[in-house]
Amino acid sequence: MQNLLNFYIGGNWTSPMSSLTMPVLNPATETQVASVAMGNKDDVNDAVAAATTAWETFSKTNKSERLELLRRLKNETEKRLEDLAQAMRIEMGAPISMAREAQADAALGHLGGFIEALKQLQSKKTLASGDIVLKEPIGVCGLITPWNWPINQIALKVIPALATGCTCVLKPSEHTPISAMIYAEIIHEAGYPDGVFNLVNGDGPTVGSALSKHPDIQMISFTGSTRAGKSITLDAADTIKRVTLELGGKSPNLIFADCDLESRVTSSVNECMFNSGQSCDAPTRLLVQRSCYQKVLQIAKSAAESIKIGDPASEGEHIGPLFDQIQYDRVQKMIKVGIDEGATLLCGGLGKPREFETGWFVKPTIFADAKNSMRISQEEIFGPVLVIIAFDDEAEAISIANDTPYGLAAYLQTGNVDRALRIASQLRAGAVHINGGEFNYGSPFGGYKQSGNGREGGAMGLEDFLETKTLHGV
Ligand code: NAD
Repeated sequence: MQNLLNFYIGGNWTSPMSSLTMPVLNPATETQVASVAMGNKDDVNDAVAAATTAWETFSKTNKSERLELLRRLKNETEKRLEDLAQAMRIEMGAPISMAREAQADAALGHLGGFIEALKQLQSKKTLASGDIVLKEPIGVCGLITPWNWPINQIALKVIPALATGCTCVLKPSEHTPISAMIYAEIIHEAGYPDGVFNLVNGDGPTVGSALSKHPDIQMISFTGSTRAGKSITLDAADTIKRVTLELGGKSPNLIFADCDLESRVTSSVNECMFNSGQSCDAPTRLLVQRSCYQKVLQIAKSAAESIKIGDPASEGEHIGPLFDQIQYDRVQKMIKVGIDEGATLLCGGLGKPREFETGWFVKPTIFADAKNSMRISQEEIFGPVLVIIAFDDEAEAISIANDTPYGLAAYLQTGNVDRALRIASQLRAGAVHINGGEFNYGSPFGGYKQSGNGREGGAMGLEDFLETKTLHGV
């Protein structure tokens, strides 16, 4: 990791202007594994200047040149998948099997989706009026990403920027710089022209804000908390740049008595706890039809108690720690809030699991008999904590499902297809997973309401990075 104290600007590993550094900790051991340089406004200016120069030529490349670069990116990514997985194990505590199969795999999965979308992209269309509509790359893009799915989020932004002919400056999460630096090495090896991709590490208020305000950046693509999304929107307002936001969630999961309860409830609990609950679209509110409520509580409790907690370095299916102490303290505070609000603690609870005193491990926790107005039902906890709420009929289920500021995903378990389609059309969410239907690479991903705007992945993910020009009179 010799490059962690440098930035990648203009095709070179450059020394930062800033002399600040920050320790990177392994959340399973609480020990320092690296130091990362924390950039400042001058570092951002350097990177934006490199991206602006590169834009002059890269924006004029044609589709087949960019497809060829994406194919080389695929080859280089395949060579470094294990490095990416190990990096995410070390810097954010992702259990190694899951880091390989889900976290690192996303780099290739999204790449495949974007290559297919770019092949299909029509950058010139003639309307019935005779006018011609052109699609052009928007310009220099600032890309700001979180720590919880580090490479997934980087791939969803960097690849469409490069695929459409944009140039970019990436500011990954300061907490997960190792995987991001490996990704920069992959892009370098793929042979992208100097300055097309640049990386500056640093914190949000300094580097993220400097990118958001920069007059030479035409678009900010951000994934992270709703709090930071609001701040970026305000910072970007003076320069009227395009801002696309992928933000938080509190996704409902509607369980009807006519589904296969044993299998659907068990899977639902596992999905909520996956990645130790640190997924924006995790199904964290289980809304249960009253006629099967007691049965669901039994199944959910037994599923949560069967979840193994383990060392991220060990292979197999288990969950690891939360990614840092701040996150650990926040989750503990929310478990205490749930107890104080009067929800029934079905399993888990405060404190660390036995034999996991070192590291930011948390017990998989379920609250039953919750009300949707409680804080534990409204706020993103971002830990392995599930809230169960009863409903009487479809109308009440839909009303509870839609009653949060968020609208990222929703989940629906029913044996009745008509009911599934009827309800899905009324849920205010960017995705509805029916009976375990999984996300596919290349499909649009994004939220309604305060979960954001824009859509990432595949054709719609390319669309966000394009401007539209209409030619009249040709
Ligand atoms: P965060 O908002 O604290 O940080 C995300 C990124 O934004 C980091 O790079 C951070 O340095 C930067 N940042 C923070 N404040 C900023 C500011 N004022 N200006 C510019 N940049 C700023 O989020 P996090 O804790 O890293 O990630 C967890 C959050 O991300 C959760 O809310 C989760 O739901 C959300 N998330 C959403 C999606 C999605 O696709 N909708 C995916 C993953 C994570």
